[in-house]
Amino acid sequence: MTDRHQDLAGGFPETDHDHASCVDEALDRAVAICERRQVRLTPLRRRVLQAVWSSHKPVGAYNILTMLTNERGTTAPPTVYRALEFLLENGLIHRIESLNAFVGCTKPGQDHAWQLLICRACGRVAEISDGKLDHAIADAASRAGFILQRRTIELAGLCSACRDSGPAQRDGDGALV
Ligand SMILES: [Zn+2]
Ligand SMILES: [Zn+2]
Ligand SMILES: [Zn+2]
Repeated sequence: MTDRHQDLAGGFPETDHDHASCVDEALDRAVAICERRQVRLTPLRRRVLQAVWSSHKPVGAYNILTMLTNERGTTAPPTVYRALEFLLENGLIHRIESLNAFVGCTKPGQDHAWQLLICRACGRVAEISDGKLDHAIADAASRAGFILQRRTIELAGLCSACRDSGPAQRDGDGALV
């Protein structure tokens, strides 16, 4: 694979991809972004980012809290929430509203529209970035006289790996069972 970011930006990574390099890449990019923005990626913030990137599945604050407590002893929940807030503010992770969990951003440091694809079979989440969709929503909202403040789009379905494996998981209406 020559351009992995392109692949990630366009959907789900291969199930057998080298995930350690996704994590390394995410951490390296975070260091560069924080330097550029002159904000501090403290060891704790870095550890929380790494925890969010531990897989392509959503990670909840509580999971991170448990992880940190196991590693460093009792950790106060606000410590984790503040670190997550920092990572959100600096565009390093996205919040998945429907799951109350987080996923690493695959285009950190770039101003981008994002939509999240959530696989209901394997639980992985992929980020796509469709500016046209974003514009259409902004237009529709403005026609309705609505001031748009958050434009999270979360789509549930089956990733290509799950779609191709196992029995059909759709019923007649196209709804997932
Ligand atoms: Zn990966
Ligand atoms: Zn993103
Ligand atoms: Zn899947």
